[in-house]
Amino acid sequence: MAGDIVPGVPWRWVATPNHGDARASTLGVVVHSTRGGAGSLATEYMQTVRFCAQGPPVNSAQVGPHWVVGPAQVTRMVHDQDTCYCQTVDNPTHIGIEVCQPFPTTAYTEFQYHATADLCARYCVKYRIPVSYIGKQYTATVIKPGILGHEDTRAGWSRGKSDPGDRWNWSHFCQLLEAKHRNLTSPPDIWRGIGAGLVAYCKARGLLPRPEPALRWFDVYHDEYLWVKGNAAHPHGGMLTYRASTGEIGEMWWSRSP
Ligand SMILES: [Zn+2]
Repeated sequence: MAGDIVPGVPWRWVATPNHGDARASTLGVVVHSTRGGAGSLATEYMQTVRFCAQGPPVNSAQVGPHWVVGPAQVTRMVHDQDTCYCQTVDNPTHIGIEVCQPFPTTAYTEFQYHATADLCARYCVKYRIPVSYIGKQYTATVIKPGILGHEDTRAGWSRGKSDPGDRWNWSHFCQLLEAKHRNLTSPPDIWRGIGAGLVAYCKARGLLPRPEPALRWFDVYHDEYLWVKGNAAHPHGGMLTYRASTGEIGEMWWSRSP
């Protein structure tokens, strides 16, 4: 669907009937683990996707996450804007990611950390979610924006949920998350061409004293800025610049997909 994030890791789409309509707001991402008891991570992944793709009576609880993270690939099951079904009262405000883990004692793989951090970093950009792990919540619903585990939501821990559990290394995850977010919001080399006296023009905010790294990416998802739209001549889009000293408007076009 237009506007869905595109992961930086191998991915596929498998539909599920278990989801709701569009969320009104997005405050964060809830990370889960599956604990389906399969004999291998690959089997756990296959079985989780197959299970979530079905409605009742097989999937009587109607579990439907946005993503399932496997050993070498991730599966999108619910479009970004739609409401997932995997974290009860927090579904209307949070993206849900199920990381496959056969048992609570099973170690997570490096791919799973990278893939989950990649997805979360893109949602942090898209929905302007703080790039941080917010930890245990004590209100009935999660109202503090950020990333957290199912076990950190009150709806989760009050019902005995302990995923993703102590095998999930949040500090390692956060290092990856911050690095990926930085990478996503860092300006490409084209910024080197902007010299002193040049400022970026932003439709929503007028003239900016200097290009803010994140603006380029926000524009991909929000129609707030003037310049990233691609057209036939410039399929990768570009931006307008404004030279304050002369009033000159300049054009810069991406030569590659940012
Ligand atoms: Zn969970």
